Amino acid sequence: MVSKTDYDLCVIGGGAAGLVTAAGAATIGAKVILIEKHRLGGDCLYTGCVPSKTLIHSAEIAHSIKTAQRFGLSAQLDPIDQKKVMQRVVDVIKTIEPNDSPDRFRALGVEVVFAEARFTAKDRLSVDDREITARKFVLATGSRPFVPPISGLDNVDYFTNETIFNVTENIPSLIVIGSGAIGCEMAQSFARLGSKVSLLSNTGLLPIEDADMSAVVEQQFLQDGITLHLGVMVNQVEKTATGVRVHIQNDYKEHAIEIEGSHLLIATGRQSNVEHMGLDKAEVSIEKGKLQVDARLRTSNKNIFACGDVAGPYLFTHMAEHQAGIVLRNALFHLPAKTQSTGIPWCTFTAPELARVGLSEQEAQQQAIQYQVYTFPFSDIDRGITDGEMNGLAKIITTPKGKLLGACIVGPHAGELISEYVLAISQGLNVSALSNTIHIYPTLAQINRRVADQRMKEALTPTRKCWIKRLFGLRGGD
Ligand SMILES: Cc1cc2nc3c(=O)[nH]c(=O)nc-3n(C[C@H](O)[C@H](O)[C@H](O)COP(=O)(O)OP(=O)(O)OC[C@H]3O[C@@H](n4cnc5c(N)ncnc54)[C@H](O)[C@@H]3O)c2cc1C
Repeated sequence: MVSKTDYDLCVIGGGAAGLVTAAGAATIGAKVILIEKHRLGGDCLYTGCVPSKTLIHSAEIAHSIKTAQRFGLSAQLDPIDQKKVMQRVVDVIKTIEPNDSPDRFRALGVEVVFAEARFTAKDRLSVDDREITARKFVLATGSRPFVPPISGLDNVDYFTNETIFNVTENIPSLIVIGSGAIGCEMAQSFARLGSKVSLLSNTGLLPIEDADMSAVVEQQFLQDGITLHLGVMVNQVEKTATGVRVHIQNDYKEHAIEIEGSHLLIATGRQSNVEHMGLDKAEVSIEKGKLQVDARLRTSNKNIFACGDVAGPYLFTHMAEHQAGIVLRNALFHLPAKTQSTGIPWCTFTAPELARVGLSEQEAQQQAIQYQVYTFPFSDIDRGITDGEMNGLAKIITTPKGKLLGACIVGPHAGELISEYVLAISQGLNVSALSNTIHIYPTLAQINRRVADQRMKEALTPTRKCWIKRLFGLRGGD
């Protein structure tokens, strides 16, 4: 028997992970309470995917107008008022907002409470002046920007993803520190929207990707007029009359360089939201600021689960949704479902987009496994040529016998195109399955078959060709 303040499920955090968990649980008849300290929708709606993709779209249109001559058109782009672009970002958020409204979740049967949750024991937490018990708890408290300890940073104004989409002024010159997905997406967007952009990082661009793939993005960044300072140390930041000055040094400490800008964006990674929740009282272990979860997404307290960014390690909305499903199966149905650890896709929405699933070549090398690599360029795809989108390539990694291990596409609509490889890898398919699949002509998706065909062509060794000729009495030349 469940008492008055008892629930089947108590979900803490109303971002993508918490919302999907709470809605799913309520839909199947569980008594659910969702506790959110700020607003429903989380990073994805307000400070992540939605505003960034909206901004990117405006930037793409600006770029198309500026480069209209490539398509035999003449067009003139008036000076960009970034305030108007930012107003559209706000409008788009407002359009999507009702999907995540408290009323919608209440209508599904979820009790939504706006407060900060804090565990007082391993089976209960306090919210405002209430004490709540539940059979199972779900931590879905997300992540926040990691701000590195750079000298002088405390004394200057800077943006993170939490503030940049609220900007109400034009940004003449932007210094971006960080070359991961967020830093790259923002750097290119603002460059295409008229800001003078410098991108600084102690690594290369998109360092988790193979260098030949990120090089395509890097080349486009240079064409977009972004000043790149990669592999540098940021030593100090200071305020100037017009904005900020950043002192950097290259690896060999040869050159100290000063870069000035009107605004600064810090995009140097994420950290989990695990503080101030009384997790010690709940007997939930945290190591080096990270929750410890098993494959079933159970924390060290088996009645407390976690999903989304706070559980990691893949910080994407689609992973938050996937993990929410795993939590529901474990927490409510006691089915030992495990979170997927392979075949996880992602996309960096730069132009060109860079999307990946499975192993990269550098990961295959690190794992010292035997592998083959095949590539195919967009410049040989007819639709790439008709659309003037010839920049980029597809690359696949296979076992020597042709089983797909990984795929990466850098090019137009890579985030859409990669899905075919996501399915192929998750189903353990051989590359021949892609080669034997009919792809509509002329689509960009033909690159998925053409890159797979590279392996088939390779299999046609001179000896095999000779045997085929003899067997079928063919008379062609070598
Ligand atoms: C700039 C940017 C762009 C991105 N672009 C993409 C993209 O294109 N595609 C993609 O898949 N992913 C993208 N992401 C990542 C994506 O936004 C996150 O993976 C996703 O939002 C994580 O959802 P979540 O529910 O785990 O966390 P969040 O969305 O952060 O939600 C956590 C919620 O918990 C609440 N909370 C925290 N602590 C407490 C507490 N103690 N009590 C009550 N409530 C609490 C917070 O207020 C928040 O509402 C992007 C992220 C950023 C920053």
